[in-house]
Amino acid sequence: MGVSSPQIGYENTTLGLQTKHDVALLNTKFTGKRQVYVKYENSIEKIIVTPNTTTEELEALLLSICGINSSQKGDISITLWSGGKQQYLGNLLENTENTPLTIKISDESDSLAAAISSLKMNIAKLDMDKQTLDGTVYASSFTQKTFRNFKFDEQTLEELRTPRFNNWEFSENELVYLIIEMYRDFGLLEQFKISNQLIFNFVNKVREHYQNNPFHNFKHAFCVTQMGYAILCQSGIIAEMTHLERIMLLTACLGHDTDHPGYNNAYQINAKTDLAIIYSDQAPLENHHCAMLFAILGLPECNILSELSSEDFTVVRKGIIRCILATDMAKHGELLGAFTKIIPTFSLTDNEHRLHLFSTVIKCADISTEVRPPPVADREKQEGLPTLPFMDRDKVTKPVIPLYESLAKLYPQIEKDFLTPIRTSLAYYKSIDVKPNA
Ligand SMILES: [Zn+2]
Repeated sequence: MGVSSPQIGYENTTLGLQTKHDVALLNTKFTGKRQVYVKYENSIEKIIVTPNTTTEELEALLLSICGINSSQKGDISITLWSGGKQQYLGNLLENTENTPLTIKISDESDSLAAAISSLKMNIAKLDMDKQTLDGTVYASSFTQKTFRNFKFDEQTLEELRTPRFNNWEFSENELVYLIIEMYRDFGLLEQFKISNQLIFNFVNKVREHYQNNPFHNFKHAFCVTQMGYAILCQSGIIAEMTHLERIMLLTACLGHDTDHPGYNNAYQINAKTDLAIIYSDQAPLENHHCAMLFAILGLPECNILSELSSEDFTVVRKGIIRCILATDMAKHGELLGAFTKIIPTFSLTDNEHRLHLFSTVIKCADISTEVRPPPVADREKQEGLPTLPFMDRDKVTKPVIPLYESLAKLYPQIEKDFLTPIRTSLAYYKSIDVKPNA
């Protein structure tokens, strides 16, 4: 039984049909084809979603599951829910029949209103106390919400300033504290009167709002923050930066992929997701990451910028937005071109030049896997890189070299620690002929 079209269909799993969910997960991430279990009243159905599935098709399918003909839809709108959180129809993630999404039917007909309310839901959940965190995402030791004195040895803190730092030796809990150490090292806690508990609340809250997806998760946020930190330390750029610029760039790195749903902008736009609608196809993901980050900073217990004057806040906010929007790969050529152009006349007294420099640093950090020693980078690759076509080696290595080269023209200190490893790892991967499934 069921409804099918060339792109979507469902079968009734309450009849006991077997699924191959686990095997399917990685493969389907790659092709974009996903199995999603939905529940209406007492019946659980499996639906298949592909990147070509439009929101309208999905809605029609869900309506048919509820026994409603889409031509008689009228003012009815249909939404999917998981654990009290509305799911965007445009980027449903795979689940199991034990964790189906609940179909809700309501009378609201305005899809934009529904989209905005779903975004509001996401932001509203920031206010909720996270006592009942999903155990698989948040390790049990992390239910502790109080800052603890976490001491790292000198060698670890020294390694943290280099691209050789091996994040895999640390738990996610420890990564939170390592990020706090970066803020401390840059003098930010003292300068902006940020207590240990406040910075802990902030970093931890950002962490909670990274989704548990294969690549754009909290681990990635850590890696980008740490690499940005390492570039600033090794290049000597840090000595030229004001405290406002330091907190701007570290915070941008940390929050640059907040609440990433796992699918890229092209997907968002093609699937006409809520995010694409809200941001009119203009870098919907990066805009959303910014919005989520500032929603977190809007919580008094997380606002590490509360001591800033309103003028300084505006400067930091502008810088964060600019840096996060710069991580949109669609803008890569444009930004690299613009930066390359100003190199001959680069001047630290020119504020526009400085902002170009910081955007280049966050971009370098964002696509920095190749800089890390092969064993560390390989682990990252295993953990998710092959599932994202735009992050595969051919496509990453090509843009990453000119980006670091442009930075090395101004800061030759990074040549040895950053560019050489990129070239070495490129040779290494060529030698073992790692080919992603693209
Ligand atoms: Zn990223």
